[in-house]
Amino acid sequence: MIRELNEKYRTLWALNSAESLLGWDLEVNMPEKGSTARGTVLAEVSLLTQKKMAELYPLLEKADEKQKEFNEYEKGVVRILRRRQKFFTRIPPSLLEAEQKVAAEAAVVWRDARKKSDFQAFKPYLEKNIELKREEAEKLGYEKHPYNALLDQYEEGLTVEDVDEMFSKLISALKKILGKVKSESRFTPISPLVEKNYTTESMAGVNRKVIEILGMPKDRFRMDLSTHPFEANISRDDVRITTRYEGKDFRSALFSTIHESGHAIYELQIYEKLEFSPIGIAVSNGFHESQSRFWENMIGRSKSFVHLVKPTLQENLDFVASHNEEEIYHYFNLVRPGMIRVDADELTYNFHTALRYELEKKMIGGQASVSELPQLWNEMMEEYLGITPKNDSEGILQDIHWSQGSFGYFPTYSLGNVIAGMIWYNIRKEIALDEKIRVGDFEPIKSWLYQKIHRWGSTFAPKDLAKRSFGESFNPERLVQYLEQKFLN
Ligand code: MG
Repeated sequence: MIRELNEKYRTLWALNSAESLLGWDLEVNMPEKGSTARGTVLAEVSLLTQKKMAELYPLLEKADEKQKEFNEYEKGVVRILRRRQKFFTRIPPSLLEAEQKVAAEAAVVWRDARKKSDFQAFKPYLEKNIELKREEAEKLGYEKHPYNALLDQYEEGLTVEDVDEMFSKLISALKKILGKVKSESRFTPISPLVEKNYTTESMAGVNRKVIEILGMPKDRFRMDLSTHPFEANISRDDVRITTRYEGKDFRSALFSTIHESGHAIYELQIYEKLEFSPIGIAVSNGFHESQSRFWENMIGRSKSFVHLVKPTLQENLDFVASHNEEEIYHYFNLVRPGMIRVDADELTYNFHTALRYELEKKMIGGQASVSELPQLWNEMMEEYLGITPKNDSEGILQDIHWSQGSFGYFPTYSLGNVIAGMIWYNIRKEIALDEKIRVGDFEPIKSWLYQKIHRWGSTFAPKDLAKRSFGESFNPERLVQYLEQKFLN
């Protein structure tokens, strides 16, 4: 019966792959005017997916009786399909349609509102998005808090209790580390390298070499340009990333390339026999982000990586030659509380996500109205980072997520950091991490990640995978240890 489920699932897999390719093309190649037709195509594909999904329901019913005989892969297949069944059968198409419609309008309004720093213009759309998401939570059902229903869609099984605990541990520890770093001026907030201009061509040379150093397979991987960097997997043997060149401060181009490569390595290493099956996909947002963060921060921003990549930087960017490894290391790790989440350093990043989480929880739980949000935002920025936004553009209007109705997403960014901390803690028991990075020997690191995480796809639920691979559930203490060692020792 599992075989039959998998066979029928192939069509869904193919639709999903087509959707990824269409989405990638939309960001990378499509002429502007193609967007209306592309929107129609994507909406039709999504309807087709729902229809095809419904054909699996009778088979899933039968799975109930056989549950006891299943091995762990088969259990995984049923678990994943049940999750999708639950979503499609409990959410009426009219609600999905309303959500898509408001999100599409909100995207346009948000972009303009952000430019003009005009929260009032965006406010009615945010209110509508929240209303629809609360309705969605009610339809899906939840225990204790409606926000749990939204969290679960990005991170299976994650609850408000888990996230509260994670942030309460992180915030107090990070405040201490940040305070010490500031008072002892261990890591500088500025570097002359921030101001250096580069040409797209020169930086593209660096990035081409970096993906070679990371060992990205030429015949299964490619890199292109887009406004916002992302990773897309069309199939296990066709994984793509994008990057961007802003012309100044080369960290952004370098680290988005390493970040997206981290996502790509995950997709490239899912056990090949799982392909075309419901569990041949990454397990969750948190785990996915842990891969990008591990490669970006624990590897990319380490002293050993600076040593490894310095010749490449020097070869392509003349202004690097006058800086030694220590200076480049500090440039990679500037510590400065700032307004913008995506520009935040390792020590301040999680304050940004914690703030958004607290506000989302209040909005979805009905404890705060949208009118109160800008003020709450500014108060929390002051409390967490000691700074207040000059206007809503650099405050509450900065992220795209709320215009899209993505509530429950932000906590998974921090969970990704937490899981990356667990990887850092555990991998060093078996692999001399710094030595390997220093000489660019990434194979043992990849094969460790393959064994612990990648190969399993979605066989196990995220919390079970964490216990199985690390012997404990999500533990922020590991990230704290990593940050203490890096920033205080
Ligand atoms: Mg990412």
